[in-house]
Amino acid sequence: MRTSQFFLSTLKEAPNEAELPSHKLMLRAGLIKRLGSGLYTWMPLGLKVLRKVEAVVRDEMNKAGALELLMPAVQPAELWQESGRWALFGPQMLKIKDRHDRDFCFGPTHEEVITDIARAEIKSYKQLPLNFFQIQTKFRDEIRPRFGVMRAREFVMKDAYSFHTEQPSLQATYDVMYKAYSNVFTRLGLKFRAVAADTGAIGGDGSHEFHVLADSGEDALAYCPSSEYAANCELAAALPPTAPRAQPAEAMRDVDTPKQTTCEQVAELLDIPLSRTVKSIVLMSTDGQLQLLLLRGDHALNEIKAGKLPGLADFRFATEEEIRGFFNCPPGFLGPVGVDRSRIRVIADHTVAAMSDFVVGANKPKFHIAGVNWTRDLPEPDLVADIRNVVAGDPSPDGKGTLEICRGIEVGHIFQLRTKYSSAMGCTYLDKDGKTQPMEMGCYGIGVSRIVGASIEQNFDEKGILFPAAMAPFVVAVVPVGYYRSEQVKEAADKLYAELLAAGVDAVLDDRDERPGVMFADMELIGIPHRITVGERGLKNGEIEYQARTDAAASTLPLAEAVAQIK
Ligand code: ATP
Ligand code: MG
Ligand code: MG
Ligand code: MG
Repeated sequence: MRTSQFFLSTLKEAPNEAELPSHKLMLRAGLIKRLGSGLYTWMPLGLKVLRKVEAVVRDEMNKAGALELLMPAVQPAELWQESGRWALFGPQMLKIKDRHDRDFCFGPTHEEVITDIARAEIKSYKQLPLNFFQIQTKFRDEIRPRFGVMRAREFVMKDAYSFHTEQPSLQATYDVMYKAYSNVFTRLGLKFRAVAADTGAIGGDGSHEFHVLADSGEDALAYCPSSEYAANCELAAALPPTAPRAQPAEAMRDVDTPKQTTCEQVAELLDIPLSRTVKSIVLMSTDGQLQLLLLRGDHALNEIKAGKLPGLADFRFATEEEIRGFFNCPPGFLGPVGVDRSRIRVIADHTVAAMSDFVVGANKPKFHIAGVNWTRDLPEPDLVADIRNVVAGDPSPDGKGTLEICRGIEVGHIFQLRTKYSSAMGCTYLDKDGKTQPMEMGCYGIGVSRIVGASIEQNFDEKGILFPAAMAPFVVAVVPVGYYRSEQVKEAADKLYAELLAAGVDAVLDDRDERPGVMFADMELIGIPHRITVGERGLKNGEIEYQARTDAAASTLPLAEAVAQIK
């Protein structure tokens, strides 16, 4: 590509709306343009990056044996009513009507559509296992679209769905996809971590998320440097690990007679069924008086409202301000909260440490605090142990060291759905004995467009973006100095550019007739990994200047070695 025939539109300053470096740089480099809240146009330069990410994802999916298809973005309501998610998915789903007043949604995800395909197309165990994937636009009406393409409303996802006769076959494909995901993020040059994860609105049993590590990440991750243990604190989180903390010893000071209480005991006390929807619960008491109850997730709140948790019937729902005032904590992290009048006193040790800093921070008098983990019925007990309130330095759940906390940007998520959708939607096959069985299912998502932002969040400097070659819009920029004034420069630059293209290198020739400083700044801002400067002076000695985007200064190379240097 020649810049004179391309469309570069770089900015000196980032628009005010951008908070994160990646968002600012994507706008400044002209990769994206904002249309509305959470809606972005991928400009030609940005689209090149997006397509390169897609290509790596597609390649690894093909290698993993998944088959590409493309499902409609707009989906009929009936399918979602069958799965039960039409009512449950909540305001993230954009519901629309057609001219006949029929209900549709713009797909936030595609489990229902693919299950509908599988139940119609797959009849026999002989056809299984199968794994389908697509790379496609999703719409989620996010409550707070922000960070540009990282939390957009319209975004590009790679989603795959696998179908199996038995769980071991699902496990095998899950493992293959886990490996494929690791390959994708490695090839894209990302520093990432896979963690055990919550299943959210998608549902199912086991699940892992893949996180690009970045301080600006929205998720807190707990991991053990000396073992394999890693999990998203969201698994049962109610409190942010970034909050200021007291030392556990100090926190424990005011707590007399700590006593371990099991989930079952508390469940009995409160008359709450142990369920998957009520995942965590934290009780706080002063002098045996229950003050606060933190429940995780809207489901828990809805169950209380619907009277399904009789033990909590007397709860009043405190406002977020009340709770924040109580804990003296910043906005944005507390989930649904209730306040009760009954007398309960239970203490579980490590939650004390986690909660007490708020108590200490708020200068409250004596508190007794209890934590209970409600995730008992999940698989992989080692990984989904109670990590809701872990802090750096806590022992780890697998007994092999102490925990560290870091932050991450979720770029991939894999789930063992088991038969959640196939049972609800009658997606069955005939087994060897001619018996009808529901299919086992897995699903696997990658935030293709989010990856572009997440990569920049990890790779930038004061000059701009540092794209790894695998996703850079161009791999090398040939910058001629005096292209239109020196026959020699023009000839050498054109020839070098042609040779790079012939060698399969995605090169750009900056033939804009700008000052070298302008061309250098643009190529640095948009993150081109290699730059070759062709000038009259160097050519006299048969030399060019080479500078990697990460090099502090340029070095001189024989012109004849330039192509080999890039390849
Ligand atoms: P998040 O926790 O960030 O809201 P999610 O858990 O809701 O993500 P999944 O349902 O697991 O998302 O979807 C698969 C992938 O799609 C995510 O891992 C993420 O990379 C990407 N993704 C989800 N929501 C968005 C969004 N609003 N903008 C861009 N990418 C997104
Ligand atoms: Mg989400
Ligand atoms: Mg998530
Ligand atoms: Mg997820």
